[in-house]
Amino acid sequence: MKIYNKENEFAKVKSLSSDFSWFSPILADRLRDSIADSVCVPEGLSELLDVVSSCAKSRTPITIRGGGTGNYGQAVPLNGGVVIDMKNFNKIKSSDSSADHVIAESGARLIDIERHANYRGLEMRWLPSTFRSATLGGLVAGGFGGIGSINYGAVGSFSSIRNAYIISVEESPRKILVERSDEIEGMLHAYGTSCIIVSVEILLATKYSWGEYVAEFDDFDTAYIFGKQIATDSTIIKREVAVFGEGFHGFFPRIRDASEGEEKSVVVLSFCPEDFPRVEKYCEMFNGSFIYRNDKVEISAGSVSMLEYCWNHSTLHAKKYDKGNTYLQTVYSNELDTEQLSYIKSSLGDEIMQHCEFIKSRDGDIMSVGLPVIKYSSEKRLQEIIDLHKDAGIVINNPHVYTLNDGKHNGHIPRAISKLRSSMDPYGLLNPGKIRCDLAV
Ligand code: FAD
Repeated sequence: MKIYNKENEFAKVKSLSSDFSWFSPILADRLRDSIADSVCVPEGLSELLDVVSSCAKSRTPITIRGGGTGNYGQAVPLNGGVVIDMKNFNKIKSSDSSADHVIAESGARLIDIERHANYRGLEMRWLPSTFRSATLGGLVAGGFGGIGSINYGAVGSFSSIRNAYIISVEESPRKILVERSDEIEGMLHAYGTSCIIVSVEILLATKYSWGEYVAEFDDFDTAYIFGKQIATDSTIIKREVAVFGEGFHGFFPRIRDASEGEEKSVVVLSFCPEDFPRVEKYCEMFNGSFIYRNDKVEISAGSVSMLEYCWNHSTLHAKKYDKGNTYLQTVYSNELDTEQLSYIKSSLGDEIMQHCEFIKSRDGDIMSVGLPVIKYSSEKRLQEIIDLHKDAGIVINNPHVYTLNDGKHNGHIPRAISKLRSSMDPYGLLNPGKIRCDLAV
């Protein structure tokens, strides 16, 4: 097993103690000095169990690392200790070649699972836009969803996770199979505080041949209504609908190059090419026009994809363009979404660049969530912007905090997470500090 120590290999250990929390200037500042004492890269289960056992005996904190693409300092160790890099847990198998599921080890990259699925005429139900480097364990423990969530919602929805093998943090670690929905809930978006995930069995979707398209509109409101129309029309077979207001041209060179005139609002879509004539009709109804059309994009074959402008990639591009940009995560109300969006734009002007995505809620409705880019000036102003959203009835999943309570859980820790955690991590060694109340561990 490879082991890197902070004393001898500081740069390596620092890099494996970091994630994309620098998207937030507040987290970048707070987490600047957080670093593990060492990083272990176990080759397989018996080495993993050895590391976990010795950490349990010496009460050493453990932070599990997948691809390290999480945004909220999820994979950043707050209290030193050991980072366990799961990259060698990368096997992918299907127990039955005709089945619509796959069993993958938690360190398997999502792009590799997608390739495996595609080979069998299937595809992942959801892919974060970081699908090239993110892992399945990281998606389950730290992510939300992404491309495909318009059909299958967030990762835990619609019984998409069948079961998982997890291990406990004890002197003699237990490896157990979790199948019940409350146990599965306990692993979801828990920042690796409730257990160590070894492998996960997930349901897949039927694979379609996808095209990628960009349509342009005179203003954001019209682009949004068009996007919502496509998102809610269940007869159009699609995988992604994202709406961007003005201000993104500078960050999205491929879209800027495709659009010859002045900057407009755009909708990035992925749907079946057979549906193009119908979508084009809708587009014309809203006086829009297609500026980009590619009827065959195979992301699993490595094609450059417009989808890598969507979801939180918009922030990555915005920050590359201007380090002073940051973002928020928002959930709009189904009935008041258009009013909420125009109220925020009229209140904030150029301080905000609107970006909305559509996803399926647990009860089957299509809802709108946002990743607006914000021009950052100070922590105080950011809080005012957050409060403005909340006053308008917009839910904020705050990406500028690193505790699980304060992110999307509204001050609380879901019971399922606490329950799994108390049975699998009796000494509170998993990612300590990420749950407010054990900051002193
Ligand atoms: P990591 O960052 O390594 O880990 C995330 C969390 O999971 C950590 O708390 C870690 O301790 C825990 N963890 C990892 N593996 C295990 C394990 N085996 N057992 C227990 N705990 C574990 N997210 C989305 O949901 N949708 C998006 O579209 C999306 N777009 C993004 C775009 C950009 C540019 C960036 C930087 C991030 C984006 N994210 C998105 C966030 C992130 O990429 C995803 O959540 C991704 O799935 C995280 O996977 P990872 O392997 O990188 O996890």
